[in-house]
Amino acid sequence: MARRIIIAIDGPSGSGKSTVGRRLAERLGYRYLDTGAMYRVAAVKAKELSIDIDDEAGLTRICSHMEIVFVQDGDGIKTFCNDKDVSEAIRKPEISALASQISTKKAVRDILVEMQRMMGAGGGIVAEGRDIGTVVFSGAELKFFLDSTPEERGRRRFKELVEKGMRVSLEETITEIRRRDRRDRGRKLSPLRRANDALVIDSTHMTIEEVVEKMLKEARRQISEGGACQ
Ligand code: C5P
Repeated sequence: MARRIIIAIDGPSGSGKSTVGRRLAERLGYRYLDTGAMYRVAAVKAKELSIDIDDEAGLTRICSHMEIVFVQDGDGIKTFCNDKDVSEAIRKPEISALASQISTKKAVRDILVEMQRMMGAGGGIVAEGRDIGTVVFSGAELKFFLDSTPEERGRRRFKELVEKGMRVSLEETITEIRRRDRRDRGRKLSPLRRANDALVIDSTHMTIEEVVEKMLKEARRQISEGGACQ
């Protein structure tokens, strides 16, 4: 039987990690883990319960009582927190900003990283986020760092939001992407950075399918060779 490895995909907001990660997992028959969605759930909870971003004890309390479940739903994935469907709530722009802030907190990261490691136990998983290859699964057999320019990422995010009926401007969306980049790369705890052994893919001029094919080729090689990640 083919060995079931852990594949880590890290990269900045809007680089396409979720779409390619989901497709890659599907093609390999692996599970897919969107760790950003987990930080978003924590943000929704904090907002709902009016927990201040600096209230570490409050954040620990809510995070340790969150039971997050992902359910395949046609082409997409639904996110549940303690049996409540939060799939739409976690994608709102104000929650994107709050998730980025909340993810700088140690209390939150400690609990969510632990949950993610449990979800990845046994391998056969494609996990995406900011610190997957550097922290969560630093021993992952295959690591990718998916990047593209802030303008291109802003354009893609803008299109997604408009399709969902949200009223935003392109300029605002690009500015927000840059703001999140600064926060993700500059934070003290688990900043966004490429793991030394991660393969960089710049998707600025690539289609989603081209990125998926490239990753798939690497994954198949890794699975059949059984060697260490270069
Ligand atoms: O990937 P997504 O944009 O959904 O992530 C939401 C926020 O969660 C990001 O802005 C990022 O700051 C944070 N995050 C993180 N570590 C991860 C995944 C996401 O800090 N592994």
